[in-house]
Amino acid sequence: MALPTHIRLEFVTPERAIAHDEVDELQLPGEEGAFGVLPGHAPLLAALRTGEMWYRKGGDVHYAFIDGGFAEVLPDRVSIMAQVAERAEDIDLQRAEAAKLRAENRLSRPTAADADAERTRIAMLRAIARLSVAQRSRQRHHH
Ligand code: ATP
Repeated sequence: MALPTHIRLEFVTPERAIAHDEVDELQLPGEEGAFGVLPGHAPLLAALRTGEMWYRKGGDVHYAFIDGGFAEVLPDRVSIMAQVAERAEDIDLQRAEAAKLRAENRLSRPTAADADAERTRIAMLRAIARLSVAQRSRQRHHH
């Protein structure tokens, strides 16, 4: 049997489809670190953390934000089921900046409960990851 030359990417959240495409390679934010996938990858199921992913189709690289979920990797197909995700071009920069500022302000004050601080820290991680994803796609478009 011939080795696959491409990967069919199916990337969804419960709310919407993020990407359905034939891609050359991709990278995902695994719980244990970022990992790359090329055609012919061994089958695996991975839990995803909050962070950024990208996929390459020819010379085009597309970036997206992922807020946890799962990925099923097969030799010729990758299915991503994210809790929340946005394509780089759909990220509202002002909203992410505002979320980051809110989190910074909260963390700078003494807080009643550790659980609140943990929630705020996670909100901060989401905002930072969104800003990073949005920035990467802008850098590319300015080349
Ligand atoms: P905020 O505090 O601004 O609501 P959040 O991190 O709490 O941010 P989420 O709970 O992760 O927001 O997401 C709620 C919904 O809003 C999801 O549909 C998500 O895709 C969308 N969303 C959140 N932040 C942004 C953003 N900066 N740009 C585009 N969509 C966003």
